[in-house]
Amino acid sequence: MAELKLDSSVRYLSGVGEKRALILANMGIFTIKDLLYHFPRAYQHRGKVGLLRNSYNGEVGAFVLTVSSQPHTAALKGRMTMTKLTAVDESGKCNITFFNQSYVSKVFNIGDTYRFWGKIQRKGNMISMASPSYEPWSEEKPLPEFYPIYPLSGSLTQKYMSKIISAALEILEKCGIKDILPESLAEEHSLLSPRNALRIIHDPGSYAMLELARKRFMWEELYSFAMAISLSKNKTKEARAPVFSPVDMEEFYSVFPFSPTNAQRRVIGETQADMTDKRGIGMSRLICGDVGSGKTMCAAAAMFMAVRNGYQAALMAPTEILAVQHYNDLGAVFAKLGIRCELLCGSSTASQKRIIKKGLKEHTIDCIIGTHALLTRDVEFKKPGLIITDEQHRFGVMQRASLGDKGKGSHILVMSATPIPRTLALIMYGDLALSYIDEMPPGRKKVSTFTVDESYRERMNGFIEKQAKEGRQTYIVCPAIEAEEDEGLVGLDFEPEKEKNLQKLKNATEYADTLRKCLPGLNISLMHGKMKPKEKDEVMQSFARGEIDVLVSTTVIEVGVNVPNATLMIVENAERFGLSQLHQLRGRVGRGAHKSWCILVSDAKGQNAVSRLEVMTQTNDGLEIAKKDLELRGPGDFLPDKEGSARQSGGFEFRIASLCDDTSHLESAFEYAQKTLEADPLLQRPENSGIKSLAESYFGIIGNTVN
Ligand code: ADP
Ligand code: MG
Repeated sequence: MAELKLDSSVRYLSGVGEKRALILANMGIFTIKDLLYHFPRAYQHRGKVGLLRNSYNGEVGAFVLTVSSQPHTAALKGRMTMTKLTAVDESGKCNITFFNQSYVSKVFNIGDTYRFWGKIQRKGNMISMASPSYEPWSEEKPLPEFYPIYPLSGSLTQKYMSKIISAALEILEKCGIKDILPESLAEEHSLLSPRNALRIIHDPGSYAMLELARKRFMWEELYSFAMAISLSKNKTKEARAPVFSPVDMEEFYSVFPFSPTNAQRRVIGETQADMTDKRGIGMSRLICGDVGSGKTMCAAAAMFMAVRNGYQAALMAPTEILAVQHYNDLGAVFAKLGIRCELLCGSSTASQKRIIKKGLKEHTIDCIIGTHALLTRDVEFKKPGLIITDEQHRFGVMQRASLGDKGKGSHILVMSATPIPRTLALIMYGDLALSYIDEMPPGRKKVSTFTVDESYRERMNGFIEKQAKEGRQTYIVCPAIEAEEDEGLVGLDFEPEKEKNLQKLKNATEYADTLRKCLPGLNISLMHGKMKPKEKDEVMQSFARGEIDVLVSTTVIEVGVNVPNATLMIVENAERFGLSQLHQLRGRVGRGAHKSWCILVSDAKGQNAVSRLEVMTQTNDGLEIAKKDLELRGPGDFLPDKEGSARQSGGFEFRIASLCDDTSHLESAFEYAQKTLEADPLLQRPENSGIKSLAESYFGIIGNTVN
């Protein structure tokens, strides 16, 4: 057989047949190099040994125990067997059970010491473990501390992955690997060679080594990401859109009952500069502005400009309710300006849809407002000029990708209600120019915010009742409950063990039932993520009509309608939410003439939780909160959530770089990418061939978002 190289197919490794090769291919592993870059998603930290006395029920961990009773095997029904033994450390005793592994009775002898890894069960003073893994322990020959846990698929097992990765590491030893990073970068940061780093990430001897390997791969990720974005920006520059002529905006402003804020004026100016740019590159811009900062007016101004230039414009919202709301707001404005605007939704009748599609095709309609479904339907524009997506806080890199052909030849504007810090915006929306609306329209009332604990419950219920008696409405938000799968593992990001959350989480369904008993006179409704969109819409609209006093829900209301009569927002287990999320939730109230409150309920006593919630009581400034959130919690809240997950839709995701720690490096990575591109714009030099193919592999994901 020919000598294997890094770009040889994994098929040549022993143990990889056709079937397994297919499973690996589905995981994106084709070559031996792909396999080497298949990093553990976590490690069992078996080097961290616990004491039985300090263990808690459900804990997964390592315990060094000495066998204290001879194993005894009993037959169970069928052909099952159960083998039992006891083992001790200085602090206590553990009952260990193995099922259908009667051979272990020959393995263990009284007085032998093993390192066990497994899940602790505690009942009173009884401590037990079922089928733990075990390794003989001796002071002289220390055991490895870390056991890699790989992402798996299909019938693959950890053992199998470890085996084929070891084989791949041997090939790496023979042929070495070229560095994709510029020499100057690797030197500046004293990075490990890629060969060493690969060896260590699969078999780290210590935290310190793992950290060094992590650092190298973090730079590889940041640099190739920066390169992909830089290349795609160059590509975007080739995009085309009509060059608009300037229009008189005073006519536009005159139909509003208020004047634009300075921030709105500035942002509108920025969009107009894009659209009138003589190079005809077209606008690709993101407007970030807090809830209520007046993004709609900026969107309308851009639409106005497109229409006055003889083009059509589309505005898309993430939900039908929001589309309707935009239509109600803007329909009136456009009518005064003589602009023909229509609404196209899933619930429009077939004949309405037909008429509207005809109108768009024949250009008897100037502006169309709808949901994203607008794009996937057979909607044709005669003269498309501008496409706006209002994403609220749902970042939809993928949705922009799906703009596809309809976006072609149009100006693109995206609006987001999460004021993301600039570094993060660079990542999420690297291909877009950024505008911030950093000023609120005058006369906004502050929402009074408090954090309380369980002892406040009765008074709070009284407060809800009082609001209802006065005709006001209340939102109550409970966290969605997720299974904790990764017990006992440490992540690549070295997150210190999460605060053990032993409190009972409030489940929305149970909560609503309890509340109905406590407050029998009130109309209490429930809304959660498992409901169909139509059902959610119905509940939401009924709440908007004032038919419901209290709406108990999961965060599905985050992207919600404007209900000015709602004056109280209660968030249960508030410590479970990111600050930016809490800020969004708080933004649901304080929208009308009445005084509004936000109550954050939490029994968490941890320092981090307490200081995070404190931020909420201290400021109303979304950007300030977003920065603090990034500092205290990392970028999780800013990245697409599980429902619309980037992971699911194949979007971009860092595997190693942790955005909260590494964003500061990102800008430097961009500088290096820029330098490389200046010297070799098409990445044709041999030393750039590695980064070229890597960056291009990102293109499939982010490259076609705009053009
Ligand atoms: P968002 O940025 O959340 O989309 P909207 O555009 O919906 O905010 O504006 C929120 C509210 O503020 C609306 O009722 C809108 O009419 C009002 N508004 C917008 N701009 C101004 C302004 N310059 N002065 C006063 N009120 C404004
Ligand atoms: Mg809005």
